[in-house]
Amino acid sequence: MHYENSLAFARKKDQDDPLSKYRQDFFFPDFHDEEVVYFTGNSLGLQPKATKDYIQQELDDWAKWGVEGHFEAKNPWFSYHELLTPKIAKIVGANEKEVVVTHSLTTNLHLLMVSFYRPTERRYKILCEGKAFPSDQYALESQVKFHGLEPADAIVEVFPRDGEHTLREEDIIAKINEVGDELALVMIGGVNYYTGQFFDIKSVTEAGHEVGAVVGWDLAHAAGNVELHLHDWHVDFAAWCSYKYLNSSPGGVSGMFVHEKHSKNKELPRFAGWWGHNKDERFQMKPGFDPIEGAEGWQLSNAPVLGMAAHNASLDIFQRAGMAAISEKRNDLTAYLEFIINKISDESDLVDFEVITPHDPKKRGAQLSILAHGQGKALFDALSKEGVVADWREPNVIRVAPAPLYNSFEDVYRFGEALRTSISES
Ligand SMILES: *Cc1c(COP(=O)(O)O)cnc(C)c1O
Repeated sequence: MHYENSLAFARKKDQDDPLSKYRQDFFFPDFHDEEVVYFTGNSLGLQPKATKDYIQQELDDWAKWGVEGHFEAKNPWFSYHELLTPKIAKIVGANEKEVVVTHSLTTNLHLLMVSFYRPTERRYKILCEGKAFPSDQYALESQVKFHGLEPADAIVEVFPRDGEHTLREEDIIAKINEVGDELALVMIGGVNYYTGQFFDIKSVTEAGHEVGAVVGWDLAHAAGNVELHLHDWHVDFAAWCSYKYLNSSPGGVSGMFVHEKHSKNKELPRFAGWWGHNKDERFQMKPGFDPIEGAEGWQLSNAPVLGMAAHNASLDIFQRAGMAAISEKRNDLTAYLEFIINKISDESDLVDFEVITPHDPKKRGAQLSILAHGQGKALFDALSKEGVVADWREPNVIRVAPAPLYNSFEDVYRFGEALRTSISES
């Protein structure tokens, strides 16, 4: 692909972009003097303008119907989550029976591990990526302790090689084979939150299965960002949040996936609640839990409808745009950003940027993580002053993620100009 660092070039790219029309469907923060360059859709996606109406609908029905809204609302709350199922199933590549939107992400990871981390005396280890997202680390550690095991013994972390920033799949697979029949569970973030690396979910899942382990994925940074085929890849389970690339409100509802090879198994141990119980009998208040077949059988509580409405608003935009088109633009936009960063780094005697995210578009999503040798935090602060909303991660990384649904090539060009100014200021 040929790129140029010019406003005219960026604007021409935007003109030719079939997704450019979606930008106007989102609110851009206006707290800054200048128009911001919003590159933190990997942390909190922007608010779709339609979200208000989706939530208002439920507020109006609540006002009008009170409790009767469970069945009489335009979108009855009793089955509200079912509205979202086909839409999210498409985004993660699942059958409708395999997914449900419910709870929050870390809660779902725990609920899934209750069913899928079943350590025995011989097979009790969990393999994960080194420096996993803190919530995942704590979740794994507490699961291990819950079973009376020692985290230092039971949790096996895989790290990049010396001098490298990202993990090699061959090293993950070698470690899976090494741990072998002691390995109970592989649980990795599908797209790493720090480096932006997108793992080969299919091969790692296969390798785990070959040694007899269960394989689950945290897709917080993957859902709505990269194309997923969880069913075809034979992933055992997965969970994700909806407020990053899926633009569904701060702390918004999560989604979970349970492969159909497991989800029909009513014998799986699980923590249960009334919303996971056979729908026909839910209100009969009978003793004895009878799980719904499919991922819905892992639901505990009735749906938080206002948060679900926000999710529904965003999923409708994804439906219209389609993951294939989103992916195509994502690759182009991210490559343009990489080009601009490298160009500015080459031109400057003051800085040396290293993009630690893989260069191969198959191994990354929308995020680039920039290691700013020497400058780090001062540069980040200067960028913020220039109106760039990016993200700083200790010890030394600036994360930028142009979201293909609402970011433009012009945003990327403007980011480059802000970067140039910030270098001379910091
Ligand atoms: C964002 C993120 C979380 C956040 O978990 P919540 O339960 O939604 O607060 C967890 N894990 C990963 C990998 C994340 O990126």
